[in-house]
Amino acid sequence: MTVKISHTADVQAFFDTVAGLGNEQGSPRFKQIILRILQDTARLIEDLEISENEFWKAVDYLNRLGGRNEAGLLVAGLGIEHFIDLLQDAKDEQAGLVGGTPRTIEGPLYVAGAPLAQGEARMDDGTDPGTVMFLTGRVFDAEGQPLAGATVDLWHANTQGTYSYFDSTQSEFNLRRRIVTDAEGRYRARTIVPSGYGCDPQGPTQECLNQLGRHGQRPAHVHFFISAPGYRHLTTQINFAGDKYLWDDFAYATRDGLVGELKFVTDAAAARDRGVQGDTFADLEFDFHLQAAKQPALETRSDRPRALQDA
Ligand code: FE
Repeated sequence: MTVKISHTADVQAFFDTVAGLGNEQGSPRFKQIILRILQDTARLIEDLEISENEFWKAVDYLNRLGGRNEAGLLVAGLGIEHFIDLLQDAKDEQAGLVGGTPRTIEGPLYVAGAPLAQGEARMDDGTDPGTVMFLTGRVFDAEGQPLAGATVDLWHANTQGTYSYFDSTQSEFNLRRRIVTDAEGRYRARTIVPSGYGCDPQGPTQECLNQLGRHGQRPAHVHFFISAPGYRHLTTQINFAGDKYLWDDFAYATRDGLVGELKFVTDAAAARDRGVQGDTFADLEFDFHLQAAKQPALETRSDRPRALQDA
Protein backbone atom coordinates (compact mmCIF):
# COMPACT_ATOMS: atom_id res chain seq x y z
CA MET A 1 0.00 0.00 0.00
CA THR A 2 1.17 3.51 -0.80
CA VAL A 3 2.60 5.27 2.23
CA LYS A 4 1.52 8.90 2.58
CA ILE A 5 2.63 11.45 5.15
CA SER A 6 2.21 14.82 3.42
CA HIS A 7 -1.22 15.35 4.96
CA THR A 8 0.01 14.95 8.54
CA ALA A 9 0.19 17.91 10.89
CA ASP A 10 3.93 17.42 11.37
CA VAL A 11 4.72 17.53 7.65
CA GLN A 12 2.33 20.44 7.01
CA ALA A 13 3.98 22.37 9.84
CA PHE A 14 7.40 21.52 8.39
CA PHE A 15 6.40 22.91 4.98
CA ASP A 16 5.01 26.05 6.66
CA THR A 17 8.42 26.59 8.23
CA VAL A 18 10.27 25.90 4.96
CA ALA A 19 8.02 28.46 3.21
CA GLY A 20 8.90 31.08 5.81
CA LEU A 21 5.44 31.33 7.33
CA GLY A 22 6.93 31.58 10.81
CA ASN A 23 8.82 34.81 10.11
CA GLU A 24 7.87 38.38 9.28
CA GLN A 25 10.44 38.94 6.52
CA GLY A 26 10.15 38.25 2.82
CA SER A 27 7.08 38.34 0.61
CA PRO A 28 3.73 36.90 1.74
CA ARG A 29 2.78 36.23 -1.87
CA PHE A 30 6.01 34.40 -2.58
CA LYS A 31 5.60 32.34 0.59
CA GLN A 32 2.07 31.36 -0.46
CA ILE A 33 3.31 30.18 -3.85
CA ILE A 34 6.28 28.24 -2.46
CA LEU A 35 4.08 26.56 0.15
CA ARG A 36 1.71 25.41 -2.57
CA ILE A 37 4.59 24.09 -4.68
CA LEU A 38 5.92 22.14 -1.68
CA GLN A 39 2.51 20.68 -0.87
CA ASP A 40 1.75 19.74 -4.46
CA THR A 41 5.23 18.31 -5.04
CA ALA A 42 4.89 16.15 -1.94
CA ARG A 43 1.52 14.86 -3.11
CA LEU A 44 2.90 14.14 -6.57
CA ILE A 45 5.84 12.19 -5.10
CA GLU A 46 3.49 10.15 -2.93
CA ASP A 47 0.63 9.59 -5.39
CA LEU A 48 2.84 8.55 -8.30
CA GLU A 49 5.38 6.85 -6.02
CA ILE A 50 8.21 8.81 -7.59
CA SER A 51 11.43 6.84 -7.16
CA GLU A 52 14.71 8.38 -6.05
CA ASN A 53 16.08 7.81 -9.54
CA GLU A 54 13.17 9.66 -11.11
CA PHE A 55 13.45 12.51 -8.64
CA TRP A 56 17.17 13.11 -9.15
CA LYS A 57 16.87 12.79 -12.91
CA ALA A 58 14.26 15.54 -12.75
CA VAL A 59 16.59 17.75 -10.69
CA ASP A 60 19.37 17.15 -13.20
CA TYR A 61 16.92 17.91 -16.03
CA LEU A 62 16.09 21.31 -14.52
CA ASN A 63 19.79 22.14 -14.30
CA ARG A 64 20.29 21.21 -17.94
CA LEU A 65 17.12 23.05 -19.01
CA GLY A 66 18.32 26.28 -17.41
CA GLY A 67 21.86 25.77 -18.66
CA ARG A 68 20.54 25.70 -22.22
CA ASN A 69 18.12 28.59 -21.66
CA GLU A 70 15.22 26.40 -22.70
CA ALA A 71 12.75 26.96 -19.85
CA GLY A 72 10.75 29.36 -22.04
CA LEU A 73 10.67 26.75 -24.79
CA LEU A 74 9.54 23.97 -22.47
CA VAL A 75 6.60 25.97 -21.06
CA ALA A 76 5.48 26.55 -24.66
CA GLY A 77 5.93 22.89 -25.59
CA LEU A 78 4.04 21.67 -22.56
CA GLY A 79 1.15 23.94 -23.48
CA ILE A 80 1.37 25.98 -20.29
CA GLU A 81 1.83 29.23 -22.23
CA HIS A 82 -1.25 28.35 -24.31
CA PHE A 83 -3.17 27.45 -21.16
CA ILE A 84 -2.45 30.94 -19.79
CA ASP A 85 -3.99 32.37 -22.99
CA LEU A 86 -7.05 30.15 -22.61
CA LEU A 87 -7.43 31.21 -18.99
CA GLN A 88 -7.13 34.90 -19.92
CA ASP A 89 -9.71 34.40 -22.69
CA ALA A 90 -12.11 32.94 -20.13
CA LYS A 91 -11.48 35.80 -17.70
CA ASP A 92 -12.03 38.31 -20.51
CA GLU A 93 -15.27 36.65 -21.50
CA GLN A 94 -16.55 36.81 -17.96
CA ALA A 95 -15.59 40.50 -17.81
CA GLY A 96 -17.28 41.21 -21.17
CA LEU A 97 -13.95 41.95 -22.88
CA VAL A 98 -14.70 40.26 -26.16
CA GLY A 99 -13.96 40.94 -29.80
CA GLY A 100 -10.80 41.90 -31.59
CA THR A 101 -7.94 39.83 -32.92
CA PRO A 102 -7.23 36.75 -30.77
CA ARG A 103 -4.17 36.68 -28.56
CA THR A 104 -1.65 33.89 -28.75
CA ILE A 105 1.66 33.04 -27.13
CA GLU A 106 4.68 35.35 -27.26
CA GLY A 107 7.30 32.61 -27.16
CA PRO A 108 10.80 33.19 -25.80
CA LEU A 109 12.48 34.97 -28.73
CA TYR A 110 11.39 38.61 -28.58
CA VAL A 111 14.09 41.26 -28.39
CA ALA A 112 13.12 44.72 -27.18
CA GLY A 113 14.28 47.88 -28.91
CA ALA A 114 14.02 46.99 -32.60
CA PRO A 115 14.37 49.92 -35.04
CA LEU A 116 11.29 52.14 -35.15
CA ALA A 117 9.90 53.12 -38.55
CA GLN A 118 7.01 55.33 -39.66
CA GLY A 119 4.46 53.51 -41.81
CA GLU A 120 6.81 51.13 -43.55
CA ALA A 121 10.05 49.26 -43.11
CA ARG A 122 12.30 46.76 -44.75
CA MET A 123 12.98 44.07 -42.16
CA ASP A 124 15.60 41.84 -43.79
CA ASP A 125 19.24 42.79 -44.34
CA GLY A 126 19.34 41.33 -47.85
CA THR A 127 21.54 38.35 -47.03
CA ASP A 128 18.84 35.68 -46.86
CA PRO A 129 17.89 34.25 -50.28
CA GLY A 130 14.31 33.66 -49.13
CA THR A 131 11.28 34.73 -51.15
CA VAL A 132 10.53 38.42 -50.69
CA MET A 133 7.32 38.92 -48.72
CA PHE A 134 5.29 42.13 -48.66
CA LEU A 135 3.40 42.06 -45.40
CA THR A 136 0.83 44.80 -45.02
CA GLY A 137 -2.34 45.47 -43.14
CA ARG A 138 -4.21 47.88 -40.96
CA VAL A 139 -4.88 48.28 -37.28
CA PHE A 140 -8.48 49.04 -36.32
CA ASP A 141 -10.39 49.65 -33.12
CA ALA A 142 -13.33 47.46 -32.12
CA GLU A 143 -15.73 49.61 -34.14
CA GLY A 144 -13.69 49.24 -37.29
CA GLN A 145 -12.13 52.71 -37.22
CA PRO A 146 -8.48 52.73 -38.36
CA LEU A 147 -5.92 53.53 -35.69
CA ALA A 148 -3.19 55.93 -36.78
CA GLY A 149 -0.06 55.92 -34.63
CA ALA A 150 -0.41 52.32 -33.43
CA THR A 151 2.87 50.45 -32.99
CA VAL A 152 3.20 47.16 -34.85
CA ASP A 153 6.21 45.42 -33.29
CA LEU A 154 6.92 42.29 -35.31
CA TRP A 155 9.58 39.63 -35.43
CA HIS A 156 10.10 36.37 -37.28
CA ALA A 157 12.63 33.69 -38.20
CA ASN A 158 14.75 33.52 -41.35
CA THR A 159 14.67 30.69 -43.90
CA GLN A 160 16.80 28.57 -41.56
CA GLY A 161 14.17 28.96 -38.85
CA THR A 162 16.44 31.03 -36.61
CA TYR A 163 16.06 34.47 -35.04
CA SER A 164 18.52 37.34 -34.94
CA TYR A 165 20.16 37.92 -31.54
CA PHE A 166 19.71 34.26 -30.63
CA ASP A 167 21.44 33.31 -33.90
CA SER A 168 24.64 35.33 -33.75
CA THR A 169 25.29 34.85 -37.49
CA GLN A 170 22.44 37.28 -38.28
CA SER A 171 22.83 41.05 -38.22
CA GLU A 172 21.47 43.06 -35.31
CA PHE A 173 17.67 43.26 -35.32
CA ASN A 174 17.45 41.41 -38.63
CA LEU A 175 13.76 40.53 -39.22
CA ARG A 176 12.68 42.65 -36.25
CA ARG A 177 11.03 46.07 -36.61
CA ARG A 178 8.58 48.40 -34.94
CA ILE A 179 6.33 50.11 -37.49
CA VAL A 180 4.04 52.98 -36.54
CA THR A 181 0.80 52.94 -38.53
CA ASP A 182 0.05 55.81 -40.91
CA ALA A 183 -3.07 58.02 -41.04
CA GLU A 184 -5.09 55.10 -42.45
CA GLY A 185 -3.89 52.76 -39.72
CA ARG A 186 -1.69 50.95 -42.22
CA TYR A 187 1.66 49.24 -41.72
CA ARG A 188 3.86 47.97 -44.56
CA ALA A 189 6.79 45.64 -44.25
CA ARG A 190 9.09 44.23 -46.87
CA THR A 191 10.73 41.10 -45.56
CA ILE A 192 11.24 37.44 -46.48
CA VAL A 193 8.92 34.47 -46.07
CA PRO A 194 10.02 32.82 -42.80
CA SER A 195 10.46 29.11 -42.30
CA GLY A 196 9.05 27.05 -39.48
CA TYR A 197 11.49 25.65 -37.00
CA GLY A 198 11.94 22.96 -34.42
CA CYS A 199 13.44 22.51 -30.99
CA ASP A 200 17.12 21.61 -30.93
CA PRO A 201 17.03 17.81 -31.39
CA GLN A 202 19.81 17.50 -28.78
CA GLY A 203 18.24 19.93 -26.31
CA PRO A 204 16.35 19.22 -23.08
CA THR A 205 12.97 20.37 -24.46
CA GLN A 206 13.09 17.84 -27.29
CA GLU A 207 14.34 15.25 -24.79
CA CYS A 208 11.10 15.77 -22.83
CA LEU A 209 8.97 15.73 -25.98
CA ASN A 210 10.60 12.47 -27.09
CA GLN A 211 9.40 10.87 -23.86
CA LEU A 212 5.90 12.12 -24.72
CA GLY A 213 6.10 10.75 -28.25
CA ARG A 214 5.82 14.27 -29.69
CA HIS A 215 7.67 16.29 -32.30
CA GLY A 216 9.00 19.76 -31.52
CA GLN A 217 8.13 21.53 -34.77
CA ARG A 218 6.38 24.83 -35.34
CA PRO A 219 4.70 26.06 -38.52
CA ALA A 220 6.14 29.24 -40.09
CA HIS A 221 4.80 32.29 -38.30
CA VAL A 222 5.23 35.99 -37.64
CA HIS A 223 5.03 37.34 -34.08
CA PHE A 224 3.34 40.63 -33.24
CA PHE A 225 2.93 43.05 -30.38
CA ILE A 226 0.29 45.61 -31.35
CA SER A 227 -0.21 48.63 -29.13
CA ALA A 228 -1.83 52.05 -29.26
CA PRO A 229 -2.64 54.64 -26.59
CA GLY A 230 -6.07 53.90 -25.13
CA TYR A 231 -6.14 50.34 -26.51
CA ARG A 232 -5.38 46.98 -25.07
CA HIS A 233 -1.94 45.58 -25.84
CA LEU A 234 -2.18 42.55 -28.12
CA THR A 235 0.39 39.75 -28.22
CA THR A 236 -0.23 37.44 -31.14
CA GLN A 237 1.16 35.55 -34.13
CA ILE A 238 0.00 34.75 -37.61
CA ASN A 239 0.56 31.47 -39.42
CA PHE A 240 0.19 30.66 -43.09
CA ALA A 241 -2.61 28.58 -44.60
CA GLY A 242 -1.34 25.32 -46.08
CA ASP A 243 1.64 24.92 -43.73
CA LYS A 244 2.28 21.27 -42.87
CA TYR A 245 2.34 22.08 -39.15
CA LEU A 246 -0.44 24.69 -39.20
CA TRP A 247 -2.64 22.73 -36.79
CA ASP A 248 0.16 20.56 -35.42
CA ASP A 249 2.26 23.20 -33.68
CA PHE A 250 4.29 21.86 -30.76
CA ALA A 251 3.62 25.15 -28.94
CA TYR A 252 -0.15 25.23 -29.70
CA ALA A 253 -0.07 28.84 -30.91
CA THR A 254 -2.24 28.47 -34.03
CA ARG A 255 -5.76 29.80 -33.51
CA ASP A 256 -8.80 30.50 -35.64
CA GLY A 257 -8.57 34.09 -36.84
CA LEU A 258 -4.77 34.02 -36.98
CA VAL A 259 -4.20 32.21 -40.27
CA GLY A 260 -3.02 34.38 -43.15
CA GLU A 261 -3.08 33.64 -46.88
CA LEU A 262 0.33 33.96 -48.49
CA LYS A 263 -0.17 34.80 -52.14
CA PHE A 264 2.84 33.91 -54.26
CA VAL A 265 3.21 35.94 -57.44
CA THR A 266 5.48 34.93 -60.30
CA ASP A 267 5.60 37.86 -62.68
CA ALA A 268 8.91 39.40 -63.76
CA ALA A 269 7.44 42.81 -64.56
CA ALA A 270 5.53 43.01 -61.30
CA ALA A 271 8.64 41.91 -59.40
CA ARG A 272 10.69 44.63 -61.09
CA ASP A 273 8.02 47.22 -60.23
CA ARG A 274 8.22 46.17 -56.59
CA GLY A 275 12.03 46.28 -56.54
CA VAL A 276 12.38 42.51 -56.26
CA GLN A 277 15.24 40.63 -57.90
CA GLY A 278 14.04 37.53 -59.76
CA ASP A 279 10.42 37.05 -60.71
CA THR A 280 8.71 35.71 -57.59
CA PHE A 281 7.48 37.36 -54.41
CA ALA A 282 4.69 36.86 -51.91
CA ASP A 283 1.96 39.15 -50.62
CA LEU A 284 0.34 38.78 -47.25
CA GLU A 285 -2.29 41.13 -45.92
CA PHE A 286 -3.32 40.91 -42.31
CA ASP A 287 -5.38 43.34 -40.25
CA PHE A 288 -5.59 43.64 -36.49
CA HIS A 289 -8.46 44.77 -34.31
CA LEU A 290 -7.77 46.09 -30.81
CA GLN A 291 -10.06 46.25 -27.82
CA ALA A 292 -10.34 49.55 -25.96
CA ALA A 293 -8.31 49.48 -22.72
CA LYS A 294 -10.53 49.84 -19.68
CA GLN A 295 -7.46 50.61 -17.55
CA PRO A 296 -4.09 52.11 -18.56
CA ALA A 297 -2.32 48.99 -17.25
CA LEU A 298 -3.91 46.98 -20.07
CA GLU A 299 -2.17 49.13 -22.70
CA THR A 300 1.23 47.61 -22.09
CA ARG A 301 2.69 44.15 -22.43
CA SER A 302 3.58 42.03 -19.42
CA ASP A 303 6.80 42.61 -17.49
CA ARG A 304 8.12 39.24 -18.59
CA PRO A 305 11.94 39.40 -18.65
CA ARG A 306 13.05 39.73 -22.26
CA ALA A 307 16.28 40.05 -24.18
CA LEU A 308 17.62 43.63 -24.16
CA GLN A 309 15.55 46.58 -23.08
CA ASP A 310 13.84 49.42 -24.85
CA ALA A 311 16.29 52.30 -25.25
FE1 FE B 1 8.63 32.15 -33.18
